[in-house]
Amino acid sequence: MRSIKGLDFTGKRALVRVDFNVPINEEGKITDDTRIRAALPTINTILENNGSVVLMSHLGRPKNGPEDKFSLNQLVDHLSSLINKDVKFANDCIGDEAVKLTSSLQKGEVVLLENLRFHNEEKAGDRTFAEQLSKHGDIYINDAFGTAHRAHASTAIIADFFPNDKYFGILLENEILNIDKVLKSPQSPTLAVVGGAKVSSKITIIENLLETVDDLIIGGGMAYTFIKAQGGKIGASLVEDDYLETAKGIMNKATEKGVNIHLPSDTIVADKFDAAANTQEQKIDQIEDGWMGLDIGKESIDAFRSVILNSKTILWNGPMGVFEMEKFQKGTVLVAEAIAESTQNGAFSLVGGGDSVAAVNQFNLSDQVSYVSTGGGAMLEYLEGKVLPGIQAIRS
Ligand code: AMP
Repeated sequence: MRSIKGLDFTGKRALVRVDFNVPINEEGKITDDTRIRAALPTINTILENNGSVVLMSHLGRPKNGPEDKFSLNQLVDHLSSLINKDVKFANDCIGDEAVKLTSSLQKGEVVLLENLRFHNEEKAGDRTFAEQLSKHGDIYINDAFGTAHRAHASTAIIADFFPNDKYFGILLENEILNIDKVLKSPQSPTLAVVGGAKVSSKITIIENLLETVDDLIIGGGMAYTFIKAQGGKIGASLVEDDYLETAKGIMNKATEKGVNIHLPSDTIVADKFDAAANTQEQKIDQIEDGWMGLDIGKESIDAFRSVILNSKTILWNGPMGVFEMEKFQKGTVLVAEAIAESTQNGAFSLVGGGDSVAAVNQFNLSDQVSYVSTGGGAMLEYLEGKVLPGIQAIRS
């Protein structure tokens, strides 16, 4: 692992790709600074070890060139207050003026460059643009896990200009170490809890996980495609008819590999997709026409709980039901609580992917699991077994 821990930054400018793509409201106020805080360990490590820091990031989705609402200038004051020192700002991420600013940096100074995506060359992975960016640092550090699955100029291509001076930032290093605890060196029994809306979006992940896990819990909307594939009656529940054969294939592969698949046996059905719908609890394979399953039932929760408490390594991605509505939240809450309890008993638990992260945050359980991943799409691609360009570029 090319880690910055223990590195001496004396006389060095560290050019750091961070993910400062934070939500900003109409008044220009940052509404959630989690991503900025996540980069602090790397920034502080460089400063504490005598270096200077040049930060680069994207923000939002500018269409064609600079737009005030996507200017990283809006982050300067808040970042200054978080690191307790003035942060300088470069009005463009490339060009003479920016290079002048970054080349005169003194030990302990910090510069933030303007939004990388004000140049279309960033997403295009343009080599000349990457080379221009590379002028800002003596060392390149990638700490942006959220964009590690993209071969953009600042996330991957730029590494070529630092053949011997490229490193993982602390956040990115932690992401890799923690996901690898599940994928590469799990303690048995290993469990994946996969939920969410669709089989189609999780199929590659499930196939990859069948190589690693002992148990696989399938909940959420995707479970109904599996139930229908087994001949069950699922009423008006979410289903992907094109994936019935895929679901059967997964069940067969699991049997071949000796993986136990746990599907829900009961469900909370509703007469419409609505927070105020009429509901009842019933067997998941006997749902009447016009009713749809929006959460797992009590029997399933109890069964899932005992698998979770019996596991030593747990990966959770995707909710068990429509947890955004209180009536259909219980399955997701109780599964999250069981994962927290199992963690307390010594299991390693990793939560990742947009909606399960939102769920553990909403239920105040994020500090009761071992690790919560910061990268949505990047985490999913890593779990699919893909090589992420941002990680590969540092390793190669
Ligand atoms: P994903 O982004 O694929 O992880 O899916 C997350 C979404 O799946 C959430 O918005 C949930 O509301 C939704 N979901 C979970 N269970 C169900 C279900 N039984 N029926 C419909 N949608 C569901």
